[in-house]
This record gives sequence, structure tokens and C-alpha cells, in this order.
Amino acid sequence: MSAISEALTSVRRRVAAATAKRTSNVRHEVRLVAVSKTKPVEDIIEAYQNGQRDFGENYVQELVEKANNEKILKLCPEIRWHLIGHLQRNKVPKIVALKNLSMVETVDSTKLAEALNTARQKYIPNGGPLSVMIQVNTSNEEAKSGIAPEDAPSLAEYIKDSCRSLKLVGVMTIGAYDYDVSLGPNPDFLRLITCRNTVSSHLEIDAEELELSMGMSSDYEHAIELGSTNIRVGSTIFGARNYSKPSVEVKK
Ligand SMILES: *Cc1c(COP(=O)(O)O)cnc(C)c1O
Repeated sequence: MSAISEALTSVRRRVAAATAKRTSNVRHEVRLVAVSKTKPVEDIIEAYQNGQRDFGENYVQELVEKANNEKILKLCPEIRWHLIGHLQRNKVPKIVALKNLSMVETVDSTKLAEALNTARQKYIPNGGPLSVMIQVNTSNEEAKSGIAPEDAPSLAEYIKDSCRSLKLVGVMTIGAYDYDVSLGPNPDFLRLITCRNTVSSHLEIDAEELELSMGMSSDYEHAIELGSTNIRVGSTIFGARNYSKPSVEVKK
């Protein structure tokens, strides 16, 4: 078995074990999003051939190039792409019509939601709504994108009431890095759960109808135990990233 296949098998086993430890009644199964940023097309195909279907990318240009890659289109027809990095409004037209785009996890303003909704209607009028998550800045760090937790309910309401080409499926956070799990539940994850609960009561829907996207390589099991339904795992599957050699050339 290759390194990627072995890593996927191990992550799946750990996901199943963490899922079994969940105390609350989480309605959704856990979706493993394999974060392939900076990694070559061959690695994505290999993971796909090992049964992986959801893949996450941070940068719009890299997502566009990989989603349009001929080999991936041919060999990975059921691939589901997630945008997990910051999206600028002027880049929205580049991604809404992408084949196999499954979810934009990083909506953090009404203006961005509006732009996505308008572009979706324009480019794929009969395509059904695009699934989106609200990115929440739970760690209150300037450098991290995401909306402040207290502003999430009104954004959720805007998406639900005014964006008929978008479907709000959950909330997402990155959180502070290097949290030591032995100290207890990650406060960022707890803040995302609280935010999800506030949003769902504001929308008058069941909390379990909204997913939680939290947990990465270092803490995905912990996140699942707290109720995460969408984990974003990169380096544990594909190996450490080398940022000095981008896998896709950035076109100016
Ligand atoms: C890179 C990235 C991940 C994956 O990080 P790993 O530590 O490699 O698992 C998850 N989420 C976001 C938003 C990322 O940018």
C-alpha cells in the first residue's frame, strides 16, 4: 500500500473510533475532507482511487486548476470540491460554475453571500442551490478571516431569506493553532458549537440541522467527539506541505 492509502485507512479507523465515542445524538455522519492544497494531481487521484471523494482547497486559483484538470475530470468523476480558504468577491465568478464544486465553507459577509447567490443564478440557473457554510472567527484573531460569532445569526438569516441559490448547511472555524487537547475541550470548538446553537434558534430550526466544520490533522478526533461533522485533514493524509514549491503555478 502507498503512503496515502495507508494514511487514509488509518484516518478512517480513527474517525470511526472517535465517532463511536460521541455522547450527543449527532445526526450527520462525519465527512472527511482531504485537504490537498499544494499537493499534486497524482496524489488526489490516488486518494480518490482509495475511495476518498471530498477534497478541500484553500486558494481559488489552485482549486480552479485542479477542478478543471483533465486527468482529474476523467479519473475522478464523483469528486466533490470544498473551498476552505478565503474567497474574495471578485473571484466568485471563477468558482460558482466549477464542475464538481460541492461546498463553499468560507462565507463571512452578506456581500459575499449576495455575490455567490447572484453568480450562481446567472451561471447555473438550473443547477440547484450551492451548499455554503458560514466561517466564524472563534479565536477573535485579526489575521483569521471569518465573521464575529455575534454577527453569524444575521448572516444566516440573510442567506436563508434572500439567497435562494444558496443552501446554508453549517458553520466552520479554523481556531487557534496548537491548542493542547489535554487541557480540555478546545475553546474555539466550544464557541463554534455555541454559535451554531444561537444561529439555529435564530432561524427556528433544530440545531442538528446545521453541521459543524471543525478539526484538522492535529485535532480531528477531539473535534468529532465534540460533535464535528466535517473534518478537514491535510498533512496527515498527504504528508507535510512544502510551500516553497507550489503544486500549481499561480497565474497573474
Ligand atoms: C490547510 C488547512 C487544513 C488542513 O490542515 P492540516 O493541518 O494539514 O490537516 C484545514 N482547514 C483549513 C482551513 C486549512 O487551510
